[in-house]
This record gives sequence, C-alpha cells and structure tokens, in this order.
Amino acid sequence: MQPKYTINELKKRLQLGQHKMTPQRKVVLEVFLDNENAHLSAEDVRGMLRDRDSDIGLATVYRALELMCDLGILQKMDFGDGCSRYELNLTEPNAHQHHHLICRGCGKVFEFSDDLMDELEDTIAEKCKFKILDHQVKFFGYCEECQ
Ligand SMILES: [Zn+2]
Ligand SMILES: [Zn+2]
Ligand SMILES: [Zn+2]
Repeated sequence: MQPKYTINELKKRLQLGQHKMTPQRKVVLEVFLDNENAHLSAEDVRGMLRDRDSDIGLATVYRALELMCDLGILQKMDFGDGCSRYELNLTEPNAHQHHHLICRGCGKVFEFSDDLMDELEDTIAEKCKFKILDHQVKFFGYCEECQ
C-alpha cells in the first residue's frame, strides 16, 4: 500500500523543516496531489497552474520544487531530455524506487514497480563491498503506441 499524502500532512512536513506553507507552495503541491503518478517538469507545473488561474512565475515554481525535493516530499529525476521532472515521493523509507520506462517517441514516462534487481544488488554488494540503499533505473525505447 502506498501512503497517500494530504495537504495537511505536507504542511506538517514543511513545518518540521522550518518552512511555511505559502499559497504558492500549496498550489504547487496540489498539482502533484491531483496527479499522483505524474512526472512533471517545472514548465508542466506552471502550465497546470495557469489552467487553475494561478499565474506563478517559473522561478517561483522551480524554487518550490527544489525545496520539496530537499524535504523528501518530491523526487527529482532526469530522463535524458535536458529537463528535470518531479514526482511525489511515495516510496516507503526502506523500499527501492520504481523503474522508469521512457518513450523516445512521445516522451511519456511509464512506471514499472517490480524491483527485479535483487540478484544484481547482491552481486554488487559482494564484488564492490558496496551497501546499496536505492537505485534509479531508466529504460529508453518505444511505447506500444509508438512502435
Ligand atoms: Zn532494488
Ligand atoms: Zn510513445
Ligand atoms: Zn515515477
């Protein structure tokens, strides 16, 4: 079961990090709460805010996103197209991140939640004496529609 955030829980997390829930931060977070499995760039977020009649500058959106990343509320990813995307961090504290499948045709990002990396992780741990905490795995290719 994935924990589902509410705006009040997020407000508490901001306060724990000595930050206030400003109106701008609130609307940015609401975009993510309404699109739980979306991977959004700062531009995407600004566009969605415009649709909701809140015109917030890109720099402000960007600062809010970076702060949420620092607090662990959002996760930042780079899918190789030169713009960072953000998603709600729903990964449980000790679990590993889901994998991402990125379509080179339409740019859509799909999630794959089975880890399937246990064997590789064991091999790395043994051969490199490296304790793995998490990983980011990206697969590039073409989705069913773009093939
Ligand atoms: Zn893993
Ligand atoms: Zn596609
Ligand atoms: Zn994801």
